[in-house]
Amino acid sequence: MMAQAFDARRMAEAVAEVRYRMEQAAKAAGRDPGEILLCAVCKTRTPETIRDSAALPVDLFGENHMQELVVNYEASAYLDKPVHFIGHLQTNKVKKVVGKAHIIQSVDSLRLLEAIDKEAGKQNLRQDILLELNIGEEATKTGAAADDLWPMLERAAGLEHVHVRGLMAIPPAFDNGPESRRYFAMLRELMEQARARHYENADLDILSMGMSGSYEAAILEGATLVRVGTAIYGERYYPNRV
Ligand SMILES: *Cc1c(COP(=O)(O)O)cnc(C)c1O
Repeated sequence: MMAQAFDARRMAEAVAEVRYRMEQAAKAAGRDPGEILLCAVCKTRTPETIRDSAALPVDLFGENHMQELVVNYEASAYLDKPVHFIGHLQTNKVKKVVGKAHIIQSVDSLRLLEAIDKEAGKQNLRQDILLELNIGEEATKTGAAADDLWPMLERAAGLEHVHVRGLMAIPPAFDNGPESRRYFAMLRELMEQARARHYENADLDILSMGMSGSYEAAILEGATLVRVGTAIYGERYYPNRV
């Protein structure tokens, strides 16, 4: 009980700190802090911890694994806040995510795009999505190549049950320095190009980029949604990792 109360207090302080730094970065960029959403990335955390954090000023949650999304969703861990899916999504897991995630941020192939559209059609809804790009060009990272953005937007224009809301990327892990900013600027430029092309069925108002070590840099480059895990919940513990 003591440990839990302490964790909740520490988490409240951590969220306040992140919020403060987000606001400072927004002001430094001449932006309205109110236009930037804080996504609490709650992978590996318990439903109790997630519920405690849902009472804090975070705007939404981010989940990486279908199983965790389902468990936390069914436990009402997010209270009344939206949850986004931000992890790599296999087409055979689409069924469990469509309709639960308010936005699927990690759409990185035509095949996945079509699978989501098909499932959303079955559930009779229109699924909001972001297209995830690999702007770091690292073999280990997920996301479509920047060139694949155009075919994906063309395909999405003809689909009835998806709605493209913007772009997402996980660039190579740098801090708030110039290297991060360069990648974030690349994503912002792609978003601007995509907007200028006026695709049907694409209302590109969400730019999801920046994590615990880099969210200020991302905000300076135009992020409208930052995904923060460690800076809110502390280090993650993976029992099966060495
Ligand atoms: C884990 C994760 C984050 C958060 O990373 P932290 O460094 O813990 O803030 C953000 N985005 C994605 C896609 C992630 O998988």
